[in-house]
Amino acid sequence: MPNFNMTLNKHTMPAQSPSERAKNFREVALGYDENTAVEEARRCVRCKTRPCVTGCPVGIDIPAFVGLVAEGKFEEAYEVIRAASSLPAVCGRVCAQETQCEGKCTRGIKGEPVAIGRLERFVADRHMQNASASAAAPAVGGRKVAVVGSGPAGLACAGDLAKLGYDVTVFEALHLAGGVLMYGIPEFRLPKEIVRREIAGLEALGVKFVTNAVIGQAFLLEELFEEEGFEAVFLGTGAGLPRFMNIPGENAKGVFSANEFLTRINLMKAYEPDAETPVFRAARTVVVGGGNVAMDAARCARRLGSEVTVVYRRSEAELPARREEVLHAKEEGIGFAFLTNPVEIVCDGEDNVVGVRCVGMTLGEADESGRRRPIALEGSERVIPAACVIMALGTSPNPLIARTSVGLATGPRGEILTDAEGRTSLPGVFAGGDAVTGAATVILAMGAGKTAARSIDAYLKEKPSRN
Ligand SMILES: Cc1cc2nc3c(=O)[nH]c(=O)nc-3n(C[C@H](O)[C@H](O)[C@H](O)COP(=O)(O)OP(=O)(O)OC[C@H]3O[C@@H](n4cnc5c(N)ncnc54)[C@H](O)[C@@H]3O)c2cc1C
Repeated sequence: MPNFNMTLNKHTMPAQSPSERAKNFREVALGYDENTAVEEARRCVRCKTRPCVTGCPVGIDIPAFVGLVAEGKFEEAYEVIRAASSLPAVCGRVCAQETQCEGKCTRGIKGEPVAIGRLERFVADRHMQNASASAAAPAVGGRKVAVVGSGPAGLACAGDLAKLGYDVTVFEALHLAGGVLMYGIPEFRLPKEIVRREIAGLEALGVKFVTNAVIGQAFLLEELFEEEGFEAVFLGTGAGLPRFMNIPGENAKGVFSANEFLTRINLMKAYEPDAETPVFRAARTVVVGGGNVAMDAARCARRLGSEVTVVYRRSEAELPARREEVLHAKEEGIGFAFLTNPVEIVCDGEDNVVGVRCVGMTLGEADESGRRRPIALEGSERVIPAACVIMALGTSPNPLIARTSVGLATGPRGEILTDAEGRTSLPGVFAGGDAVTGAATVILAMGAGKTAARSIDAYLKEKPSRN
């Protein structure tokens, strides 16, 4: 009979104090040490039903890896995770474990679930610290596959294809690879060194990265086949097109999409004193939205020295952001105006933002999304003072490739249409991640990239080689 740890609560993970971290961009949570990881892993009671595995979108054998951590076999635990997940150090940090694996954990029925995410992070970080530089030998002479976009979908697809012996080139529009992991999620939640190391691991497998290459502009999709000699293409172009509210004043100076604001800060390091890229530092900022993107934008603005209010039209219970991120934002001094909806950006005579006119809301019947519909309350207008407004209202897939590729079927929101195996309407063209689903999650994008890699392999095995 294993010696279980029946403590009701998760072991806490050390973190920077709120007052300290609200002034810097270093990682907030600091990770478990070996002893704490072993003790936390001993909280897993190896239940027969293994509900945590069904809660994991990529089906990691969670009881097996947690059991190995409990025995101090950390590298073996890493191998178990790695068999199903391409980016464990990333997922251990940013996955919504509370609604996935941990949300189903048997220990969560009475007390807190096992801290599966923290254990995944511990195992992945330990592996990275101790891994030798030598990786598997790169595949040479395989058939050529192009991956467009270097976010989690593209990285997962490229990695699996390289392991199968394909000659993989990733084309990325930006000057650095990593997609949202690099330009969207801030350093204090996901250190960029981790993403760089994951990419270096793929390069060691032979994957080539071509940055500053916008497909649909630098090369058309058909040119990748006809002129560049690729035999299959995976489109993992994400959903980077910001949405706005179409309210008066939205074009004023001081209004940003969350994507632009976060890209300046994360990708261009605009917060560093000698950065070439400027960023708007306002005394007061309003962030509109309630998802992870809104929390990241608010917490970045706070670190730039701003007083920040997050304006969300539903109540706190409906906030789509991860609970932990909301808690961290509150601890860092960010204010929330719930049941509040902007109707106008108020400007001065020179078109500078001076505030956001909002109306109060109440919640009515559930709409088609299952959430209660917000309804404006008459006579409830007020102006929240702000010099900067950041719109974090969701994003759509960028239409560039669909517009420049004849016959690529897309849906009403510009999403690329695929079957369950990631096949698009064009032969040899596959797609996955946010470009297909609309804005979703890292683990779902990664899973889609892996599915498409299997489909590409099956497709190429049936197709005679061009050489
Ligand atoms: C600020 C922010 C915070 C988030 N926080 C979380 C979180 O905590 N947890 C979570 O699970 N998810 C989170 N998400 C969502 C998650 O990051 C995305 O679902 C995921 O990154 C989607 O992966 P992807 O590979 O499909 O696309 P992306 O990561 O968007 O990558 C697509 C890449 O394709 C490139 N590209 C686009 N068009 C072209 C082209 N024509 N040619 C070449 N390259 C092109 C883009 O530049 C980009 O690098 C967050 C998203 C944002 C924006």
